[in-house]
Amino acid sequence: MAYSKQIEAALKKARASVGDRISVGSEEGLLMPSPGITASPDHIVLKLDNGYNIGIKYEGQAIKKSAKPEPRLVKQEFSYENAGHAHVRQSPGKHTITLLGAGGTIASRVDYSTGGAYADMTGEDLAALVPELGEVAHIRFESAFEKMSEDMAPADWQLLAKEAAKELNQSEGVVITHGTDTMHYTAAALSFMLDTPKPVVLTGAQRSSDRGSTDSVLNLICSAHAALSDIAEVGICMHATSSDDYCHLLRGTKARKMHSSMRNAFRPINSYPLANIYPDGRIEPLSSFKKRSSGKAKADTKFDGRIALLKAYPGADPDIISHYVGRGYRGIVVEATALGHVPTKSEKSWIPAVKAAVSSGVPVVVATQCIYGSVNPDVYTNLRILFHEAGATPAYDMTAETAYVKLGWVLAHAKGDKVKEMMAQNLKGEINPRLEPDMFLY
Ligand code: GLU
Repeated sequence: MAYSKQIEAALKKARASVGDRISVGSEEGLLMPSPGITASPDHIVLKLDNGYNIGIKYEGQAIKKSAKPEPRLVKQEFSYENAGHAHVRQSPGKHTITLLGAGGTIASRVDYSTGGAYADMTGEDLAALVPELGEVAHIRFESAFEKMSEDMAPADWQLLAKEAAKELNQSEGVVITHGTDTMHYTAAALSFMLDTPKPVVLTGAQRSSDRGSTDSVLNLICSAHAALSDIAEVGICMHATSSDDYCHLLRGTKARKMHSSMRNAFRPINSYPLANIYPDGRIEPLSSFKKRSSGKAKADTKFDGRIALLKAYPGADPDIISHYVGRGYRGIVVEATALGHVPTKSEKSWIPAVKAAVSSGVPVVVATQCIYGSVNPDVYTNLRILFHEAGATPAYDMTAETAYVKLGWVLAHAKGDKVKEMMAQNLKGEINPRLEPDMFLY
């Protein structure tokens, strides 16, 4: 939805377009596109210098364009028929990165009639809200889809991997804007699917980008720096602390959303961050990483989605395993307790069901629901029964989510014993043989 006819006429008279610095009565700021269904069309939206957006009910106040043009936004032709999509100043002399949109809160606005947020912002809209991005890089905008990440499935990971590989061959790095809930699944999937000589950085937000309190500004700026860095890995770049000070870049196979709402929700699991990334472009490496190189990015997206992720808990019914095997699933990941236990000698022992699954060719991979630490197939008798007698496969220190994604990728690339062998191999930094005490709750 565009602004009302009265506002459009007043803006035209003042020769003001989206991105211009204007005053409306006594308020001054950057003219933003009409937020569509989230605000009434007779309110003009300005971004104030403090970063907040305000809606001003237009009742014929004087509109004036600032004599000094706003330096950070470009004045390109803007059609009021297409209102809602801003134009962004580009920096042609700078290195190019691609902003690849995939929805999530970062691409959302609040619908003030319901209080709920919904995803409908393009990369251009986002970059218009964060004009500093244009100072870091020249940006190509691409959109894969606009989804909340709980609605994503392996086909979405495959599409993102293909798009990212294509973009990597035309820019210095790719930033994927994504919902945060399942970002760590996507990051793991892209880690296995992509062979990349350049950075692939996933980022998102815990507060929608149209709010003054949004975390997307720091996340996007740090992600742009990460995408231009030397770190040629798939990573997640989000707030390191609850303040707007710096971000962590986390290895895609070793990250997890650990809080439902805090801005520093993403933490490294059983590893250190790859690096601290500061908004001024400073990069402090904290782990060894694969370095940027020449060569082409390749996507190998074969994936077998017939996999399940189950949780073992006191009283859990082992029939769930037989259920999935009976439905033709090809692999199962169990989130077991601590070192890898499932009910073993109890009335509802999982051992017969695991043994039957493994002997029918369905691998059962065991990760720890403790999240931190590693599964160990040897230290207790019950563990030896599960791993050595029933034939389960340890995920070691992989998160259950990474083990789930890896199993789907491995099953599409190997058969029989080779699956077990590949699950134990460290393909993309997902297994860390040196766990340090200070990695816990890092
Ligand atoms: N549940 C939504 C998602 O994961 C919103 C959460 C977010 O983006 O932070 O896409």
